[in-house]
Amino acid sequence: GANEAKKMIEAHELLKKFYHHLLLNTKEGQAAFDYLQARGWTREIIEQFEIGYSPNSWDFAVKFLTGRGFSLELMEKAGLVIRKENGGYFDRFRNRIMFPIHNHHGETVAFSGRMLGEGQPKYLNSPETLIFHKGKILYNFHQARLHIRKRQEAVLFEGFADVVSAIKAGVAYAVATMGTALTEDQARILRRNVESVIICYDGDTAGIEATFRAAELLSGTGCHVKIATIPDGLDPDEYIRKYGSERFQRDVIEASNSFMAFKMAYLRRGKNLQNESDQIRYIEEVLQEISQLTNPIEKDYYLRQLANEFSLSLSALQQQLERYKKTKD
Ligand code: ATP
Ligand code: MN
Ligand code: MN
Ligand code: MN
Repeated sequence: GANEAKKMIEAHELLKKFYHHLLLNTKEGQAAFDYLQARGWTREIIEQFEIGYSPNSWDFAVKFLTGRGFSLELMEKAGLVIRKENGGYFDRFRNRIMFPIHNHHGETVAFSGRMLGEGQPKYLNSPETLIFHKGKILYNFHQARLHIRKRQEAVLFEGFADVVSAIKAGVAYAVATMGTALTEDQARILRRNVESVIICYDGDTAGIEATFRAAELLSGTGCHVKIATIPDGLDPDEYIRKYGSERFQRDVIEASNSFMAFKMAYLRRGKNLQNESDQIRYIEEVLQEISQLTNPIEKDYYLRQLANEFSLSLSALQQQLERYKKTKD
């Protein structure tokens, strides 16, 4: 139990430091270091996140860990090595860029390893273990916590690279889920620490769909939700590389808008609002969304906005809104 957990964490801490050393200071780690530099990451940011490199070997971690007295049986439970049919063990992570994952106390409890360049699987994560529950941890929460609390705001990303680049771009209150949909537990962690969450997912179809789900979940938890949209199907990391830190801060983070504005922009896609029937369809779809709102001030606000935009009478919109309510129950 507690003792096993302590040993597992100790192994992760030691291995993290060694992987980091290999990346920064050895010939073996050179190609990985070059890859990260090509992505625009400085030595300083690599150090801040303690990113490392796992060598192209079947038994590097096996030897390193046994050399320090850890039992391989326990290391298998920790997800660091894998047991073979014949009873031997081999390294889970080989020839990968290693992102250490910390729990909220700042202890290293897992890794995610990225391939150098293209290939499958792009990221390889530690499995669920005694010390690592993917759905209960937000990447970078331990570093961002103070900033998040001070601002009463967090930015939520999809991936490791997005967080690293956002921090590099000066957005210190950045966290991420790790390749799965936001969970109830993660939403509650955010709610306990902030008033408001900015969702900044990838601009591709998957990212847009995940934005809807995360926004519903966070709103349901009682967070105030804003959405930052990334144009052209880029992800935040790609956007920062292409347009720079200042534009990311100004045109993405500070320009983040309400969930309703995001829904309205979504409903506009593929419609020609000069065209009458498209216009009417759009107005009705927005009205349906407004009918779901529980806050009367928000409801009134968006009704007026819609009335103004299309020069409609507020009373006509209210009448139609009443109909949606009736058909709902
Ligand atoms: P990169 O910029 O390094 O290519 P990314 O973060 O843009 O990575 P996405 O494909 O957008 O990668 O995936 C978002 C997140 O999903 C990743 O950061 C990672 O946490 C997770 N992920 C991606 N691919 C896998 C995979 N094959 N297995 C497990 N998790 C994955
Ligand atoms: Mn993605
Ligand atoms: Mn991405
Ligand atoms: Mn990316």
